[in-house]
Amino acid sequence: MSMSSLRAAELASALDTVRGRVDAACAAAGREAQRPTLVVVTKFFPGSDVELLAGMGVTDIGESRDPEAGDKVAELPGQLRADVRVHFVGQLQTNKARRVARYADVVQSVDRARLVRALERGRAEAIDDGDQEDPLQVLLQVDLGEGEQAGRGGAAPDEVASLAEDVADARWLELRGVMAIAPLDLAPDDTRRAFDRLVGLGEQLRHTHPGATWVSAGMSGDLELAVAAGATHLRVGSAILGSRPPQR
Ligand SMILES: *Cc1c(COP(=O)(O)O)cnc(C)c1O
Repeated sequence: MSMSSLRAAELASALDTVRGRVDAACAAAGREAQRPTLVVVTKFFPGSDVELLAGMGVTDIGESRDPEAGDKVAELPGQLRADVRVHFVGQLQTNKARRVARYADVVQSVDRARLVRALERGRAEAIDDGDQEDPLQVLLQVDLGEGEQAGRGGAAPDEVASLAEDVADARWLELRGVMAIAPLDLAPDDTRRAFDRLVGLGEQLRHTHPGATWVSAGMSGDLELAVAAGATHLRVGSAILGSRPPQR
C-alpha cells in the first residue's frame, strides 16, 4: 500500500471506532434522534488528512493554532473548503483575531469583550473584501474550574450573560452557544457534573438568546460523558488522528 492509502486506512479505522463510541453513548442516553456533531480536531496534522477525512463523511474540522490553521485552510481544494465547516477551538490572542475571523466559520473560544470586538472588525473586513458572506458563528468558552480545580480557559460563568450581549450587538457575529474543556484529572462523576453545569448555562443563555443552541463539550477521553450530559458538538482529535507532539 502507498503511504496515503495506509494513512487512509488508519484514519478510517480510528474514525469508525470513535463513531461507534458516539453511537453507543447516544444509545445509552436515549438520544439516537439527537446525535451530536463530530468536530474532528486536525491541529498539527496536514491538510491531506483533512481531505481524507472529508472523503469519509467528516463535515466539521477543528483547529487551534494560528497561523498554521489559516495556511492549512487556504490550501484545501475549493470544493472541499466549501464542504467543511472550520471551527477555531483554541485560545485566541486578540492580535490574531482578525486573521482567524477571515478563514474560520466558527470560533468556539470567545472569552472576553476585546476578542468579540476584534472578531467583529475582522469579519466585517472579510465581508467587505468579498472573502466571506455570512456572519462568523461564535461560542462562548466557559471556565469550568471550581475551588482547587484549575480551569482550562474561558470566561467565568457569571461573565457569560454580558459577553453574550456583546456578541449579540455585533453585526457580523452570530451567537450559537457555549463551549468548555473539562478540568484535568477529574473523576468521571465530576467531569459529568462540570458538563451538566455547562449545559445549564446554555439553557439559561437561551432564555435571552434563543439561537444559542450549541453546547460544545467532550474530547477523545470524555466524549461519552459529554453525550450523556447533552452536548451538541464533540471535539475529537487524538482518538482519530493519533497522538500529537507535546504542546508548548
Ligand atoms: C486539541 C483540542 C481538542 C481535541 O483533544 P483530544 O483530546 O485530542 O481529542 C479539543 N478541544 C480543544 C479546545 C483542543 O484544543
